[in-house]
Amino acid sequence: MVESAIQQRPIRVAVIGSGPAGFYAADHLLKQTEFDCEIDMFDKLPTPHGLVRLGVAPDHQKIKSVARVYDKIASNPRFRFFGYVEFGKHIDIRDLERHYHITIFATGAQTDRKLNIPGENFKGSHTATEFVAWYNGHPDYADIEFDLSQENVAIVGVGNVAVDVARILCRGEEELKQTDIANYALELLKRSKVRNVYLLGRRGPAQAAFTNPEVRELGKLSDAQAITYAEEIKLDEHSRKEIEENKHNVTRKKLDILKSYSEFQNKGRSRRLHIRFLVSPTEIIGDEDGNVATIRLVKNELHKMKDGSIKPRPTEEYEEIKVGLVFRSIGYQGVSLPGVPFDVKRGVIHNEKGRIVDPDSGNAVPGLYATGWIKRGSTGVIGTNKQDSRETVDYIILDVKKGLTLNPVQAERRRVEELISERQPDYLTYEDWLRLDEMEKERGKEQGRPRIKYTRIDEMLEALRNEKMDVDGIAANNIK
Ligand code: NAP
Repeated sequence: MVESAIQQRPIRVAVIGSGPAGFYAADHLLKQTEFDCEIDMFDKLPTPHGLVRLGVAPDHQKIKSVARVYDKIASNPRFRFFGYVEFGKHIDIRDLERHYHITIFATGAQTDRKLNIPGENFKGSHTATEFVAWYNGHPDYADIEFDLSQENVAIVGVGNVAVDVARILCRGEEELKQTDIANYALELLKRSKVRNVYLLGRRGPAQAAFTNPEVRELGKLSDAQAITYAEEIKLDEHSRKEIEENKHNVTRKKLDILKSYSEFQNKGRSRRLHIRFLVSPTEIIGDEDGNVATIRLVKNELHKMKDGSIKPRPTEEYEEIKVGLVFRSIGYQGVSLPGVPFDVKRGVIHNEKGRIVDPDSGNAVPGLYATGWIKRGSTGVIGTNKQDSRETVDYIILDVKKGLTLNPVQAERRRVEELISERQPDYLTYEDWLRLDEMEKERGKEQGRPRIKYTRIDEMLEALRNEKMDVDGIAANNIK
């Protein structure tokens, strides 16, 4: 039932998902002055920060430092965190209706798009999402096996995720040791036999999705040589015209960087990173044991569509590359949530600028909102979510002022705590996370690393229990 909630202070808000989009939404809500609000943030993992912890590459520590901003938001007394509490398992949409005026879904995009070509399921064909989650120590991915005894690896797609995967595969031991990469990943990568990494773009260099700082970084790897091929980075007529007409300086710079990689000089580095364009995989061919053995590519040419976009068109020319591992890095995809309208085609929650919409009636569903990748798809960098969450929160403010919220029957804070203690007694608070954070950093200090992550949930819970016992023990001794 919908009724005016503006008088019933404070407005109770649940945020599902604790990545950047969830935190920026919480921040905007806590800072607005139209109404008083309290925020409870839930995450299915014990640890917060979503892709900042588990997606951003471990050799990009500066980017990860944004977590300090989230710690500050979480320090607001009107904010609570419930880690290791899964929507759809420990709480559902009915619980949220009972306890909150507003729910914001900020669950990101947890799966990947499919290539839909034969051989995609051979052993050794993985998604980039799996590899990224694995090397970042995501507990759900810690047991996946990657055969890094292979010499040749193909990565399909030329977005920033593909570049991250390529860089991690090309980094040397000394470089990796300075990161917070999961310990098991460090051990395996130290023994890696990978020598050639092929980044495969289906369009030309002017359309490559990676950004300039990321592609520039590929030229600075200590033990890998980035290489492009003159015939593939030569601009086609359509792209040239577009760049000239629209003065695309960023693209010009990107082309200069890529051109510099074509002037190949053997620097004696042990790995080669081949950045390829105008090729699409048509098949992954396996050996008799069902392992990836070869990737078959068709060469593309570019053509201009009526809407002005430049698209690839296959030619009759094919090429095969012997590879033992394939990573598909062609974009992340959102996963549907029980009881929440979902647009399967786009892989996002049905929404209009953040307001969740019933696809049958076209009407906004009172009290339900979305933000981040589950709202708009997997585009943009961390900062993009700030603006995106502001849009969602601006609509929330409008709706709250009009009284368009849910009407929770149990709106007291303690009621949620009671419910969660009953359904998931092992839940973590933000204070628990901060202790875990300190423990990880402490473990890292011993080896000169930023942190050594806990990568298993049991391990995290045990570390917290042991630490609590130590603290209680000291306290007890002090009393004595
Ligand atoms: P993305 O930027 O959308 O790149 C996807 C790539 O896959 C594109 O090269 C795309 O080519 C290609 N692709 C799509 N379908 C394909 C198909 N069927 N066959 C072959 N290639 C195909 O996605 P992403 O790399 O997953 O990154 C997601 C977002 O996170 C991006 O906004 C990215 O910038 C951001 N991110 C940023 C950083 C950073 O700032 N360092 C790091 C990681 C991720 P087309 O262009 O031809 O479609």
